[in-house]
Amino acid sequence: MFAEVAFPIRSFQTFTYSIPAKHILSINVGTRVSVPFRNKVIQGIVVNIKKNNSYLGSIKRIIEPVDNVQVITHPLWELINWVSKYYITPIGKVASSVVPKSLSSNYTPQIKNYVRARKKVDLEKVSKLKHTAPKQYLVFKIISKKNKTFKVSSFKKVVSNPLQICISLKEKGLIKLIKKTKPLDFNQSVFEPIFKNIVFNKEQKLVIDRIIISLKKYNFYSFLLHGVTGSGKTEIYIEAVRYCLSQKRNAIILLPEISLTPQIAGRFRAVFGDIVAIWHSKLKVAQRSWTWGKICTGDFKIVIGARSAIFSPLKNVGLIIVDEEQESSFYQDAKEPRYHARDVALMRGSFEKSTVIVASATPSLESFYNSQQKKIEYLRLPKRFGNAKYPKVHIVDMLLNQEETGNFDQVISGLLQDKIEEKLKKNEQIILIQNRRGFSPIVKCKDCGALVMCNQCKIALTYHKNKNRLVCHFCSFSISNDMLICQDCSKSNLIYSGTGTQKVEQLIRDTFPKSKICRLDMDTSKSNLGLTSILKSFSNQEFDILIGTQMVAKGLDFPNATLVGIINADLGLYLPDFRATERVFQLIYQASGRSGRSTKEGEVVIQTYSPNNIVIKNAKNLNIAKFYKTELLEREELNYPPYSWLAKVEFAGPNRLRLFSLIEKFKHNLKGVYTGLDILGPAPCFLEKLKNNYRFQLVFKSKKRFDPNGVYLHRFVNENFKNYNNKKLLGRNKINIYFDPISLI
Ligand code: ADP
Ligand code: ZN
Repeated sequence: MFAEVAFPIRSFQTFTYSIPAKHILSINVGTRVSVPFRNKVIQGIVVNIKKNNSYLGSIKRIIEPVDNVQVITHPLWELINWVSKYYITPIGKVASSVVPKSLSSNYTPQIKNYVRARKKVDLEKVSKLKHTAPKQYLVFKIISKKNKTFKVSSFKKVVSNPLQICISLKEKGLIKLIKKTKPLDFNQSVFEPIFKNIVFNKEQKLVIDRIIISLKKYNFYSFLLHGVTGSGKTEIYIEAVRYCLSQKRNAIILLPEISLTPQIAGRFRAVFGDIVAIWHSKLKVAQRSWTWGKICTGDFKIVIGARSAIFSPLKNVGLIIVDEEQESSFYQDAKEPRYHARDVALMRGSFEKSTVIVASATPSLESFYNSQQKKIEYLRLPKRFGNAKYPKVHIVDMLLNQEETGNFDQVISGLLQDKIEEKLKKNEQIILIQNRRGFSPIVKCKDCGALVMCNQCKIALTYHKNKNRLVCHFCSFSISNDMLICQDCSKSNLIYSGTGTQKVEQLIRDTFPKSKICRLDMDTSKSNLGLTSILKSFSNQEFDILIGTQMVAKGLDFPNATLVGIINADLGLYLPDFRATERVFQLIYQASGRSGRSTKEGEVVIQTYSPNNIVIKNAKNLNIAKFYKTELLEREELNYPPYSWLAKVEFAGPNRLRLFSLIEKFKHNLKGVYTGLDILGPAPCFLEKLKNNYRFQLVFKSKKRFDPNGVYLHRFVNENFKNYNNKKLLGRNKINIYFDPISLI
């Protein structure tokens, strides 16, 4: 028997190996195997099994399977194939994101050794030790003095090789050696479980009934659950999962932000206990391996995590939930495979015959449109649960405000300041959102006006006050503030302007010195622990004010938070992207959802320079129906999704001229142009230079009217760019393909 094996490399080629007789039964399609490859042993995935082999060269043998449990089930295997084809990515690359190299199902948690004295010992033996093995004697004396268990490692202070010494003592029958596996501590990364008595209301019941009817059919079916923030979506997920488990099937829950996992996982663990796994990129390798192994063996039945959790090797998946499905973080755009986890979730559902729920308070225009087209069933929760009301929203016209006060550097308006004071007096909590980290995102020369830029990227550097450095948020290049001079005129008169979260924090500290303040952004949440502890402490009301980026805007449930302030709602509003307004609307709407979630009434203060902008107005009135109407009309007119299919091909390279001529060549040779296809560009990418590479893009739009399923666009891109990784053709340039890109910038 022969096996075709794929590797995580930039090519579509597979290689044939023979299967040793003793492994015939354990090697199937989807099995991970180790094989010889160019004088090395590497891991690959079996993609096909054949009786005969047509390859004439010499054939090497598979060494052995890597895992002792089945890792890739048939539906998962179909999914990998689909992702590879749909997103034009080599299958080995897709497979390696399903089964990351560093992971192995054979991982065992760390073992710690303990010792304890025996009750009865041979005293003669002990006195002998004194002369023959004085170190053992020393350790024994310490152990026997107390009736307690010692960590073997604690004797490191006394002897250099405590474990060996303890083993010898044990062999002599003088002590007991106890091995304990160190359990992985999930509690650090989740909130304490909250036990609640849930009685569903009428609307909630209707939604649950629909979901259960679908689960009972054991077939693929999908819902768009459109429920306002605080309407009980999470409680509904829990109920649906409970039913799914009762059918002996398992469930995956995708969350858009790692910052949401501690709280939601805590709620799930309160109900389901230890069968809930948490999966995201901030887990340590040991935690990942252990979790992954337990998912493979079926010990975990629920996987909650960020986008890559959609590939978890869970078997028999009955239910998949995508929470906040509109979030752009579901699109993996930094590396291959470049995929949209929501769409992959729907595909996995169809292969697994599961029920898929994509849910949101502000569904993406695509999902909303699909529900209108009856491609997905629309479920609605229009009201907050219980007596929680929607918050009162105030708009502050910052321009007017600044003119009136004469203070043009004003960051916190009078109204917001008053409201903060009012809430602090009542011991209620406050969330302030500024969607930019650092202190000053703009540093300028006072003399010539030049911006301080990263020299590898065409991007302004952000001043971080705590480190006293200017940092590039793309390539992490940084430079000490003390060394800084203007790159244009060499003077060192610099102005620090713009506002990042650190500046907001400082201003608030200065204004409210007695209040307790915490900040959550990428800088303070580098570790999983940092993130969880900030959220836990805020939740336990150890802080009055939480300042953060969009990370704090969604999904979180803090009943005592009654004021949300959006420092600058316009950030992003004028970005040259078809989704810019959708994003701003969602941010405001979601952020408002953090306020007044319980019995206390909430308020929101939105600071803006464009109070008359229609998006800001609709967001203020929380008028989502009107927002969809205007936005859909605009998309239709401009022929953007959901009215068209979109693909973006990005070219990057160190030499601008050569790169440009390569693109021209591609464009000139485009074959198979069809009616309904628009070709835009080549145009410089919004971030035109990153890490010393220039970047240009071609965008292809295919009207749904002519191409209802996107098949034409796929064929077209595939045919024209299938050589996208051909080194000879590209030289030092690179091509990246994005299907259904989340943005054009
Ligand atoms: P969403 O996920 O839609 O934002 P949540 O599920 O977090 O909403 O619900 C908001 C709050 O209301 C939570 O504290 C939740 O426990 C509570 N809640 C929702 N539905 C019920 C119910 N039927 N019974 C009791 N509490 C509920
Ligand atoms: Zn840079």
